[in-house]
Amino acid sequence: MRKIHMVDLQSQYQKIKETVDASIQEVLNSSSYINGPYVKEFQKDLEDYLDVKHVIPCANGTDALQIAMMGLDLKPGDEVITADFTFAATVEVIGLLKLTPVLVDVEPDTFNIDIEALKKAITPKTKAIVPVHLFGQVANMDAIMEIANAHNLFVIEDNAQAIGANYTFKDGSKKKAGTIGNVGTTSFFPSKNLGCYGDGGAIFTNDDDLAHTIRGIVNHGMYKRYYHDVVGVNSRLDSIQAAVLKAKLPLLDSYCNARRKAAVYYNNAFKSNEHIITPTTSSCGEICPTCDCHVFHQYTLQITNGKRDELHQHLLDNGIANAIYYPVPLHKQKAYVDDRYNEEDFKVTNTLIDTVISLPMHTELDEEQLAFITKTVNDFLS
Ligand SMILES: *Cc1c(COP(=O)(O)O)cnc(C)c1O
Repeated sequence: MRKIHMVDLQSQYQKIKETVDASIQEVLNSSSYINGPYVKEFQKDLEDYLDVKHVIPCANGTDALQIAMMGLDLKPGDEVITADFTFAATVEVIGLLKLTPVLVDVEPDTFNIDIEALKKAITPKTKAIVPVHLFGQVANMDAIMEIANAHNLFVIEDNAQAIGANYTFKDGSKKKAGTIGNVGTTSFFPSKNLGCYGDGGAIFTNDDDLAHTIRGIVNHGMYKRYYHDVVGVNSRLDSIQAAVLKAKLPLLDSYCNARRKAAVYYNNAFKSNEHIITPTTSSCGEICPTCDCHVFHQYTLQITNGKRDELHQHLLDNGIANAIYYPVPLHKQKAYVDDRYNEEDFKVTNTLIDTVISLPMHTELDEEQLAFITKTVNDFLS
């Protein structure tokens, strides 16, 4: 069996090569590399896909978070609550803007921000909540929006891992992940569910005023050329990346389905293994092929017999890539340690870092690979 990678961008590219190459060639022919027509077209396509009024493309997902916070005019000392178990970008921009990060624990089943912990963390200084839709599953947005409304807080959805996911509210209505809070952000990093061939990102909002503010911020704080009204940044999606994304966006739903299909295969194969906890979805409790609240950016197991690290090595020895997302909780990262934190408040995160393991997950996994991966895992943990 050939080596199995975490993601297989090469096989995916070979299937769409003609369309993507033609799009890129058009940009080269036009020489319109910055803010060319492809950026506008992709922006419009993504607005339609997400059913959101405004998409503002930018340079990457970390910038998107920073710009969203600048757009909401958060001030030094304002407290921003986010999850302890996530990629550092979320807390990094909070720190860069001299806002005060307030990290809280996550739920043991979905790995998303814990609602009780979130409620407990609110103080008079709290200004915003940043739910991260981790590994492709949307956080509990019913509860988060209710809390935000009650306390007059902004909600910034970090949707870097869940683009394409749908959230079903208690009343049965649906919205795309990232379009529920005041503002949503995403990343088009190559390995993300909608990835380009370099860096890219975007900000989404239904708020006309906020969209206007943000369009200026991404462009040096200019609303009229060479008149700088606010301190801005230079953060653009380049035309070649926009051309790639415009070609790939129509495939996003089929990509999400391919990931979900692999997840269903994995879950069935691990169902009767007592040492494994498989991912669940919050809406129906199990993964079914029609669940669209989880788009499986990662497929992450919890290994309960203490052999996670041995499994990690065993899989590598068998040519199966796998990864530990994330090995250190943010509250223990040197850059973000703080006396305010209490270890008892991070029971779930402190456990997850020792038990989680993510298996290969991408759009090109075939049954032969899935059979080999699941057999290797089950044989080792029997
Ligand atoms: C990837 C990612 C980001 C950052 O995106 P970049 O484009 O790499 O800057 C932010 N938040 C989360 C949760 C991510 O997974």
